[in-house]
Amino acid sequence: MKKIIALKNWVSNAWKEGIIVKNSSIPKYSSWFISVYAITLWPFVFIKDEGNPITIRHEKIHLRQQREVFVLGIIFFYLLYVLFWFINLCRFRNSELAYMAIPFEREAYQNEDDEEYLENRKWLAWTRYIRENDYRKSNFS
Ligand SMILES: [Zn+2]
Repeated sequence: MKKIIALKNWVSNAWKEGIIVKNSSIPKYSSWFISVYAITLWPFVFIKDEGNPITIRHEKIHLRQQREVFVLGIIFFYLLYVLFWFINLCRFRNSELAYMAIPFEREAYQNEDDEEYLENRKWLAWTRYIRENDYRKSNFS
């Protein structure tokens, strides 16, 4: 019974907080277009090294975003992600700018410094960043 409770807690924690994998080589193998430091594939967050609170928060925002579209399938998140990237690439003709202007990234970059963000975040908050068409409004750090 204790084991079942422990498993239940582990699953519920993984659902809420994700599973953070540090010192992972997955970011290196994902660096096709730009150098990847950390990558989120729900429910996992893979980080190149030990990570830091800002990166972890940034990736946890991606976990929330992925959970929201999870109903439609995790593939859908990446289809959207690549679609946004591709549209931006046509707009800016620059892969770095195209990445920074992806609504999922804009939400994550704009709020990664805010320690209370995840507690106050509204459902589907990333969609706001599609409508705000001017990517320069974002504060890329
Ligand atoms: Zn990101």
